Amino acid sequence: MKQAVQDSLDACVQEIKAIRTGNYAGPSIAVVDMPPATRELGIEVSRMAKWITSRFAELDKLQTVMARIGQGLSVEQVLNSIYESYTRLIPYDRIGCALLDDAGLMLRSCWARANYPGIKIHSGFSATMANSSLVQIIETNEPRILNDLEQYLFENPRSVATQLIVAEGIRSSLTCPLVVNGKAIGFLFFSSCQKDAYSNQHQNIYIQTAGLVSLVVEKSLLYQKLQDSNQKLQKKSDHDSLTGVMNHGAITTWMGASLYRARQEHRSLAIIMADLDHFKAINDTYGHQAGDAVLHAAAQAIQKILRGNDQLGRYGGEEFLIVLEDADAEDAAIVAERIRQTIALLEVKHNKQCLRLTVSLGAAATQSGDTAKALHARADEALYRAKSNGRNRVEVAT
Ligand code: GH3
Ligand code: MG
Ligand code: MG
Repeated sequence: MKQAVQDSLDACVQEIKAIRTGNYAGPSIAVVDMPPATRELGIEVSRMAKWITSRFAELDKLQTVMARIGQGLSVEQVLNSIYESYTRLIPYDRIGCALLDDAGLMLRSCWARANYPGIKIHSGFSATMANSSLVQIIETNEPRILNDLEQYLFENPRSVATQLIVAEGIRSSLTCPLVVNGKAIGFLFFSSCQKDAYSNQHQNIYIQTAGLVSLVVEKSLLYQKLQDSNQKLQKKSDHDSLTGVMNHGAITTWMGASLYRARQEHRSLAIIMADLDHFKAINDTYGHQAGDAVLHAAAQAIQKILRGNDQLGRYGGEEFLIVLEDADAEDAAIVAERIRQTIALLEVKHNKQCLRLTVSLGAAATQSGDTAKALHARADEALYRAKSNGRNRVEVAT
């Protein structure tokens, strides 16, 4: 008997040592063989071992996710990473994330992924927070487990989100608020097709995960805002506010860069200078605002017929520069003629008037050793010829 007690104490010590030294390879204590005096100890050591290993596994996963966040990944990438690495930590068939608007009144789904087809709550789905049971989750700031969603739907038949999620086949859900600086910014949903899938044990993993996701979401939202305003600023400084196309500085820089690329890759490059005919007369007859409307309409009409890598800019007043990549003089003449016809057919409605106009165009393609200045001068010379030969025509530089 004494020996049996000694053996089971030894077994417990071995188990604890294995855990401490990182050599634990699963439970090794045969609790059933233990004498009653040490059995309870054996059971607790086994439980502790299981608990510690599962905590390590969680920490491991969290660390992986943390590392990814450190790499500056987006919310979507982090959520995908959680979806792919959490399978053994917590049961789920679906993970979803939804964010609140600034006022906290609308909830908008921003990401969802499931191991089944036919997701019904897609990113973009939005619902009002008024009367939503989610308000309570925000107020208590605690995760909520619903282990029988069919029953929940029976009790809350008007919840559209519940209708959709149950229709997807989901039966249990674990919902956690995403909180940054004490302010709720959204929710993370783990959902399972099984009833009774979640227990309090899952809440711990969940709270930590939600904490991480909150930080990433906040960071990425800030980043997004920054990028948006940068883009707006960039667009403002690159684009002409009246016509919406590139301004003088931007199109000139673009031409220089295109010329450099063309030379490096031994491709030809063509440009077109386009100048509206008798534009002063439009201003004089119909007023400056009408002139503005015509300028805008003409620029947009030209923009519409250009290929993706061709670039249009307002060179000055009523003069436009078009840069055609990978094009020779013949290509440029064809594009210029298309622009001429389009403008000749354009009808600009302004103050119940229908304004018509024409355009003259000069095209030029690169010759070996061409500088941007020389190329531009040849296109300008062709444009001058188009004007002096009667306007509403295309001339190509020789
Ligand atoms: P041509 O056929 O020889 O090109 O004649 P034109 O009248 O088009 O040329 P001119 O250079 O004599 O006049 C250009 C006019 O374009 C004068 C100027 O007031 C007008 N203009 C320049 N920029 C703007 C603008 O932003 N809005 C308006 N409404 N007019 C502008
Ligand atoms: Mg003109
Ligand atoms: Mg002009």
